[in-house]
Amino acid sequence: MPLDAWSLLKASLEGDESGTSILSIDKTTKKFEFILRNKLFDTLEFGFDLNSFLTKKIENSDYSRELIYKTDGTILESHFGKFTVPEESKNKEYTKFCIKDITAKQRQEEDIAWRLRFEIGVASSIQILIQQPSIREGLPHALYQLLYFTEMDSIFYLKYEPIESQTRFQIWVNERKSTKYPLLPKECQNSDWYELGLSRWVHKLKKEKTIHLTKERALAREKWFFDQTQAETLLLIPVLFENQFLGVMGFLKYKPNTPIKQENLLIYQTVSRWMGLFVQRDLDLTEINRYKSTLESLVLERTLDLTKTKEELERAYRAKTEFLAHMSHELRTPLNSIIGFSKLIQIPDSDKTGKEYLNYIYTGGTRLLNMINEILGLMKIESGQIKIQLTTFKPEDLCRQTLELIQPQANAKGMDIRFKPPSQSKNLTSDSGKIQQILLNLLSNAIKYSNQAYIEFDCHWDSDNLTISVRDFGPGISEEDQNRIFHTFTRLNDDGNIEGTGLGLSISQGLAVRLGGHIELTSQIGQGSNFKLKLPELIK
Ligand code: ADP
Repeated sequence: MPLDAWSLLKASLEGDESGTSILSIDKTTKKFEFILRNKLFDTLEFGFDLNSFLTKKIENSDYSRELIYKTDGTILESHFGKFTVPEESKNKEYTKFCIKDITAKQRQEEDIAWRLRFEIGVASSIQILIQQPSIREGLPHALYQLLYFTEMDSIFYLKYEPIESQTRFQIWVNERKSTKYPLLPKECQNSDWYELGLSRWVHKLKKEKTIHLTKERALAREKWFFDQTQAETLLLIPVLFENQFLGVMGFLKYKPNTPIKQENLLIYQTVSRWMGLFVQRDLDLTEINRYKSTLESLVLERTLDLTKTKEELERAYRAKTEFLAHMSHELRTPLNSIIGFSKLIQIPDSDKTGKEYLNYIYTGGTRLLNMINEILGLMKIESGQIKIQLTTFKPEDLCRQTLELIQPQANAKGMDIRFKPPSQSKNLTSDSGKIQQILLNLLSNAIKYSNQAYIEFDCHWDSDNLTISVRDFGPGISEEDQNRIFHTFTRLNDDGNIEGTGLGLSISQGLAVRLGGHIELTSQIGQGSNFKLKLPELIK
């Protein structure tokens, strides 16, 4: 069978994916005729005016690619190509014209673009919600942003606000792409949804189900909603957080016969899940703020109470200090006279009773004066009036001087004071007078309250800290009393036999603290007590 070139070409065109034709175009008259067409070309050619399309293209010598939109919705892509065939002695030019159905490809691309848009909308609305501290402020903007990127025409968020047994919602957001669409009917917010005939919707929503409803498929009692909103399609998605029903995200579409695709439904549902998180976060924040403000006012109230109490205490304390200082001062002058004159009065040795009475006056007066002096000392410490006089000295020298002063008291009880100076002789910069006062008090107590043969009086350095301890082997002090005895007017087992005011240790502790140190006590009942005065080498 003889095969000419045209038959071969025609056969090869049948294998093409596109509808292909070969045209012969007269360059001068711009007339064209089809030389060859494959079968696909014949089927695609229907539904649009091929002839006028080609006439226009050829007249304009426009051989560029062009899309053809057919009335049935098909999209064709057209393109031209040229080739020459040697005929008789010269080359003849032919034109290849192809049309290809790209509807599916085009739809796919549109879908991808649309999905991308949608996702951008979701992302930007979520970003708005994250940035806004309060959902009430951020929600309208965020939902409008979402709406703008979707196929929907209006969006709303209904916050679930049940009143007693009524199912009610509050319209938190109601945004539309255009104001020509009506807002949600007021009843949606002001009435029980059961009374509105929307019980079916409530049931479904509370069961975590999405409602995707068109006007035709709505029940008769639900139709009013579509009439009033003028919507054709309704989408209601429950907003939940940990199974708790918080509200409803809703969308309306006004174009008829455009149901929402399944995959888009999934995206709307995802957005609604996010909404649950944000609404819950907002509720939590409101709750926290409520607690915070109650707590703040409570703290304020308590602070005011405390300030008042503190002021009252300070006033009372000042009054006490002033009274005691005044009284002590007033008492000291006449007392000094009583003591002085009782020394001067001469009573004959024969008058034993007179001498005894005079002695009572003298010792009683001296005791009173000591007490008054101690109270005055305490007042000074408590009011911070005490003045420190710094000198530099060797602590062992001070200990020895103190020992001399206390010796008569120890001798009177037949007690020995065993002094141990520090192994290393070092200077101390402090107030020697105040230290001596403390040591005299500690030594005098040790003598007063114990009856053993001796007392240990040690002085030693521990790097920059000095410890002077007074240890007796007397009755000891119970753990409970160890703290108490440093408080003013505390006297243990006060049976009146041992003289004292109960002020010495509190004065001593006050002085030690003022000198940058403190007094520590270790004691055990029946074993004795060890009072340690700890001082820094230098007062900071
Ligand atoms: P005062 O000796 O004037 O009563 P202090 O404040 O010096 O006051 O002492 C308070 C109380 O602590 C004393 O009344 C005494 O009961 C108890 N106390 C002090 N030193 C000793 C001690 N070395 N051993 C046992 N008890 C002591």
